[in-house]
Order: sequence, then structure tokens, then C-alpha cells
Amino acid sequence: MINKTENEKIFCEYLVIGSGAGGSVACKFLVDKGKDVLLIEEGEHYEINQFNKSISKSFLYAWRNGGMTPVISKSNFGFGEGKCLGGGTYINGGLMWRTPEIVLDNWNHKLKTNIFSMNKMSKYFEDIENTIGFTSLDNNFKENSESKKILEIGKKNNIKVVRVPRSINSSENENELTLGLAGKTKNSILQKFIYPSKIKGLKIMTKCRAQKLISENEQIKYVEVIKDNTVKYIYPNKIILACGATQTPMMIKKSFGNNFFKSELNVHLNLRIGAKFNENMQTDSGLMFSQQIQEYLNDGVLIMPTSFNKNNFFSSLVKLNNKELMKIEKNIQNYSSFIIQLASSNAILLNNFKDNIILSYNLSHNDIVKLRRYFYIFCNALFDVGAEEIYLPFKKKYKINKEINLKIFLEKNLLANNLEMISVHGMSSSQMGQKKEKNIIFDMNGKSFDFKNLFCLDSSILPTSTIESPQATIMALALKILNDNFN
Ligand SMILES: Cc1cc2nc3c(=O)[nH]c(=O)nc-3n(C[C@H](O)[C@H](O)[C@H](O)COP(=O)(O)OP(=O)(O)OC[C@H]3O[C@@H](n4cnc5c(N)ncnc54)[C@H](O)[C@@H]3O)c2cc1C
Repeated sequence: MINKTENEKIFCEYLVIGSGAGGSVACKFLVDKGKDVLLIEEGEHYEINQFNKSISKSFLYAWRNGGMTPVISKSNFGFGEGKCLGGGTYINGGLMWRTPEIVLDNWNHKLKTNIFSMNKMSKYFEDIENTIGFTSLDNNFKENSESKKILEIGKKNNIKVVRVPRSINSSENENELTLGLAGKTKNSILQKFIYPSKIKGLKIMTKCRAQKLISENEQIKYVEVIKDNTVKYIYPNKIILACGATQTPMMIKKSFGNNFFKSELNVHLNLRIGAKFNENMQTDSGLMFSQQIQEYLNDGVLIMPTSFNKNNFFSSLVKLNNKELMKIEKNIQNYSSFIIQLASSNAILLNNFKDNIILSYNLSHNDIVKLRRYFYIFCNALFDVGAEEIYLPFKKKYKINKEINLKIFLEKNLLANNLEMISVHGMSSSQMGQKKEKNIIFDMNGKSFDFKNLFCLDSSILPTSTIESPQATIMALALKILNDNFN
């Protein structure tokens, strides 16, 4: 039961809503400038190593909707995001990619500007990387066997493979980052942004959900929030929305109506491929996902290893019967897994239905053709480096060996209604733009066209998909905007 107490009023200079990649950069920047900042976060605060090696437990507590938000589509499709102090950065893999040049060029072209050149952005990336304790993985790091396979594929086929930039705090070859939980190995946003800001005066209210922004005279006058089943009213001078790619547009729709703007979410699709090799893979020895095939980046496609772990691997094989699973378990040391990641050409539609979010998606024909091409290339490459069997992210006909006619098999079976995929990268759902248009409500400084004291600094304002993992882009862009406008 929610209590409404009229006199629960809180005043602050800056209110930051959401503590993920965008929100945490905003908090640190503003507190470092001596501002009075209140951060509210819907999720709870968990210790850095609270879910070490227990992804299923973290689903229940630190992820929105108990792990995956279902996406209505012909494929089996789930969208994952964080809901805790640190947001997605708490549960993510700590990959810290700078925005690819091709993406920045696209932003400049789309927005008819030149402010997003790497030349101009690099100082913000450097700043973020220095603060978070980024490492480009020098030669002392020993990659695990899946990453070595990627290297071997690169050499054999003469294709571009690059070392993955990670936010790591240990020189050991530890693999504590099963599915990217904040662990011994990852430098967490909590350690580097939120805790230091708290020491400097940042006020934090967790388990506090912003419900609605209430406006008056082209300003947001106050924000209605729920904390401990009680409605409170926060009166800030300025508001920074950083609720993430699904919740920021939801907040806007709930506050100003569904017709205020139509929102769509750009996503990267992850399709997982399991492979059985004719050798002991020892995937837990050495650093995981340290190499990536970047040859096809311009086509929106990246191929990389995942963080192999038995339970995690089995979770992608739920369609197998017990006999098959036991057979795999017997030789589990010979298995490993990889991901084909595609920047989808279609967006997820975001619908606000009676204050519940409903996601729907249609895989385009062009993307199906693209996936067939890259599954063909990569599966052949895996067979070539010793894979005996491959498990595809298909509902039916998921197991293949090298005897198969792969081209014909993929034509017949790589279909939207036979795919299993997830996405953990959502963005561009409230894109910035040059001028107010039907779906553009923030300018190129993340400032609302409609409300003088409202800003947005999270993944939703990105002009397009980043192709690579988005965390560093979100953080660097937030820092740029803060630096240009909040000094
Ligand atoms: C499993 C996983 C692995 C990933 N791995 C990587 C990786 O290795 N590298 C990379 O670059 N990216 C990775 N990402 C993506 C990256 O973490 C996100 O893109 C990034 O965190 C998004 O930042 P954000 O600020 O937009 O929002 P988020 O990080 O999603 O944070 C938003 C926060 O706002 C809170 N919130 C929402 N609504 C409200 C409300 N109404 N009131 C109060 N609080 C609210 C949420 O609870 C959440 O904590 C991964 C994501 C996931 C889920």
C-alpha cells in the first residue's frame, strides 16, 4: 500500500535519476564541482562481490524484471538491463570500447555537425578510462582458450582480430567475471564513481523510484517519487534523467503522455554459438573474452568469445533433453561458447501500456541475410580450428557437424521464427537532435527542447547504435555534455 503524505518535500540543487553509466558520471562531475546533488535509484545497493559466481541470484535482485524482459517477436528474444546501484555497469562485462570512427562519422553526418570527431572526443574517453582504471591488456595477459581460438581464426583467414579493452583491476588471469558480474577482476562504477562522490557529499536514495515529472511554466517543478511505499516530492533546480534506454522514455511518456513522442530502442542482438572441440579447452584458465573479430564491424557485426561457465552454457541449451545434457556434461571441458553480435537495422518498439512497458520487435530480412552470411563464415572457421560439433541458437535443428552443407542448412533454418537471441545493449530511445521534431526531444547538449531545467545523459540520447559495447561511449558523451554546459 502506498502512503501519500503531502508534506514529504525534499529540495536539492541537482537531482540525478538513475545510477548507471550516465548517472554516475553526472554525479561525480557535479559533486567534484561542489554542487548539491541527490541521486535516486530504483534498485538496491549491493556490495561489489555480492553475486560473485552466481549469475542466477543476481538476476533476481540486480536485474530488471528478474533477468530478462521478454520482447514480443517471432524469435525467442529477451532484453536485459540492470536495476541496482550502478545500473547496467554493475552487472556488465567491463568492456570499454571507444566509439568506432564509422559511428562518430555517422553521428556528425546525421546531426550536420563535426563535434563528435574522435579528435574532439578522445580527451573525454581518456578521462573516463583513467578514472575507471582501464587497461588495454598488455602482453602479460594470457588469454583463455576461446580467445586463442579467435586469434587462430584471425591468422588462418587473414582477418582483423583485436585485443579487447577492459576495465580490470588485477594483473592475474582471473575469471571471476562470469557473465560480467562486478567481481574481483572488474573495476566497478561503484568503486570509481559513486563511492568517491558519496565521500564528497553526494546524497543517495536507493529503492526510490521516480514516478512522474510534473511541469509548470516550461520547467519541471517537482518529481514524484516512491520510497518505502511512501510518495515523496522532490523539488530540484535541475534534473538529469539517466534511467537507461527503456526507462527514460517510459518516464517521459508517463509524465507527458504517450503521444508526446514515439520511442524506439536501437539494440545489438547477441546470438550464442556453442562448440565442442577435439581438445581440452580449459576455458577457465586465462583471461576470458580478450579477443574480438572486428573484420566485419562496418557491416555492424562483431564476433567474440563469451565467458564460459557450465551453468551459463547450459542455460542456453534448455531445449536439449536430459540424456543430451548429461552427454555434454561428461565432456564439458571440451566445450566453449562464442557470440555473433549484430547491430540490428530494426529497432525495438517501446510501448507504454497502462504504465507497463511492452517491447516488440521484427527482425528485418536484410539482417537475416546478414546473419546467414556471418554464421556461414564463423561456423566454417570454427570447424577449421578443430570444432567437431556446433550448437546454434536455433529452436529446432540446432546441432551441426562439418559434414553438413552449411549454406543450404542456414537458408532453410536461419529464420526469424527459429532464432534464440538476447540483447543487453539498448540505446538511442530518446535521441538527441538539432531541432525539435516528432521524436526528438533533447538537443545536442542533452537538454530538453520543452523544459528549461531537464537534461538527459544516458544511453537513450545516443544518436545511433554504437556497434561496439556502449558503456564508454555513454560515459564519454555524458562527460562532454557536462563539461560544455555545467562548468
Ligand atoms: C549483462 C550486461 C552486460 C553488459 N556488458 C557490457 C560491456 O561489457 N561493455 C559495455 O560497454 N556495455 C555493456 N553493457 C551495456 C551497458 O552496461 C549499458 O549500456 C549501460 O550501463 C547503460 O547506461 P545507462 O546510464 O543508460 O543506464 P543503466 O546503466 O541501465 O542505468 C539506469 C539506472 O536507472 C535506474 N532507474 C530506471 N528507472 C528509474 C526510475 N524511474 N527511478 C529511479 N531509478 C530508475 C535503473 O534501476 C538503473 O539502475 C552490458 C549490459 C548488461 C545488462
